[in-house]
Amino acid sequence: MKGWRRFNNLNRASRLESAMGELYDVIVIGGGITGAGIALDATLRGLSVLLLEKKDFASGTSSKSTKLIHGGLRYLKQLEFGLVRETGLERSVAHKNACHLVHPENMFLPIARNGSFSRWTAGMAISVYDRLAKVPAEDRKVMVSKERALEMEPLLDEKIIKSGIIYSEYRTDDARLTMALVKSAVREGAEAFNYLNVEKITRTDDVSEVSCSDAYGSEKRLFKGLQVVNATGPWADDIRLVEDNESETNLQLSKGVHLVVSRNRLPINNSTYFDAFDGRMLFAIPRGKVVYIGTTDTKYTGDLDKLEIDASDARYVLDAINGFFNVEEITLEDVQSSWAGLRPLIHHAGKAPTELSRKDEMFISDSGMISITGGKLTGFRKMAERVVDLAMENLDREPRPCPTKEYKLHFDPFADYSEFQNFISSCYDAYAEFVTQDEIAMLVSTFGKDALEMLKQAESKAGDSSSRAEELIKVQLDFCMEYESLMHPMDFLDRRTGWLYFDISKAQRNLELVTDRIKTNLKLSESDHALQLSECKELLSQSALLHLKRIKMKST
Ligand code: FAD
Repeated sequence: MKGWRRFNNLNRASRLESAMGELYDVIVIGGGITGAGIALDATLRGLSVLLLEKKDFASGTSSKSTKLIHGGLRYLKQLEFGLVRETGLERSVAHKNACHLVHPENMFLPIARNGSFSRWTAGMAISVYDRLAKVPAEDRKVMVSKERALEMEPLLDEKIIKSGIIYSEYRTDDARLTMALVKSAVREGAEAFNYLNVEKITRTDDVSEVSCSDAYGSEKRLFKGLQVVNATGPWADDIRLVEDNESETNLQLSKGVHLVVSRNRLPINNSTYFDAFDGRMLFAIPRGKVVYIGTTDTKYTGDLDKLEIDASDARYVLDAINGFFNVEEITLEDVQSSWAGLRPLIHHAGKAPTELSRKDEMFISDSGMISITGGKLTGFRKMAERVVDLAMENLDREPRPCPTKEYKLHFDPFADYSEFQNFISSCYDAYAEFVTQDEIAMLVSTFGKDALEMLKQAESKAGDSSSRAEELIKVQLDFCMEYESLMHPMDFLDRRTGWLYFDISKAQRNLELVTDRIKTNLKLSESDHALQLSECKELLSQSALLHLKRIKMKST
């Protein structure tokens, strides 16, 4: 695929060899949205950059969010005007720079009796929100009557609904957005590795040495850099302690879970921001054939690498849905998939997770490591700008303006959203024989214009039309191995395609095809292959909440 730089793990050994011989300006630890955004910005400003990620890119919180590019209406209640303004303004920047990944989305806020917002407070808040984010007049909020609200969402309970408001937001695929940033950074000259876990950081004179263990090799990998940036989100305190064992910790982690059910079981028409039974608000967001609902917000002190949804998390979300929508009771058995993530919030004594600020903060260690924590997916570009400004200053480089506001996250971007939509229609006209319209929309939203080349290749490689669908999976997989540093089957099923969440049966059906092809293409050993397969089975069953379903079956 011309336009992208090859970014694969077949030549991992030689890439590692050459990276270990470099002295980088900046070493970024953490391949979530924050680290990826910093890597791109720093590279575009002329710095040499190495990005290190211990698992897969976006495997932390950046694939576990509500997947909204939003200012966060509820933060207005906490009077966080600066945060809402900055992230609100960032929404249209993200859409303009990656319109296949950041989609305009009308949000529906039903006003309920005894709900969080009255018609008046919601109307006021959204007007402020629209103005802070400079939403164009035609996209500003619309207030609707009770009758119209019930027409829009017949599942609402007419006894409690008083009216409704429609307002504008954007929806994304957080992992794909992160991947687009990593790929773009690599395309602009950065080096990046997944599956390298930073274990030690030492500083001598002006050079930091960063030592990593490699999930796919027994040797330690040592890299040198002038400026280290810690962008490890929920793990940021751990890295601060790795660098300085007397460092103060300042994170309070908050767990948030989402459940995915079939749209047949919760047939809503709009992305809806609704009241839970306890005064909090949740999102229910339709996507293709499913709806995802979340999120919880509870203090987390367990193992960061073993985050699971427990019975009380699932119960909370199910009770919230069943309490607000007039549906036949949705139970654990209806949950097709799920995910849980950790918010890396800055600790403030005496505050509950829901009250903690979502603002980002930078901390500089005695030896000069910059740590950035807090923040939101939506604000990644501005967070990166602040970090790179500071890194340039520390490195004593001529200041250069941040270039990412105008930077497109694909080498062949769509000019605007209508070009994106027309592209989907024309692909469908040409390839309807072996892909559905939903599948084409997902493919183009995932890969942008690269989707067309994939469809062409699938058609030309397959002998007959019945094998074209399978060929298309192989083409996507090969593309991700070649240009997206894919290493593990879950990289593909979870973060590169999102099938784990939005089409789990497709992920299950194709598990062996995916694992076998990765083994062959990346020349993995039998033992690595067997390990990958068993990890996939475990993760698929965890997402489907089989651990909770089993307990329930035992108790009935
Ligand atoms: P992460 O994505 O967690 O990345 C940190 C990375 O560092 C990880 O990939 C990890 O593997 C890596 N790492 C850790 N230790 C090491 C090491 N030793 N060596 C190498 N790498 C290491 N924001 C929004 O704007 N919109 C939303 O809709 C939204 N919804 C959310 C819903 C939930 C439930 C949660 C939890 C958060 C939500 N957020 C949302 C916030 C947003 O998702 C986060 O702010 C953002 O993803 C944090 O990204 P990050 O890169 O800082 O952290």
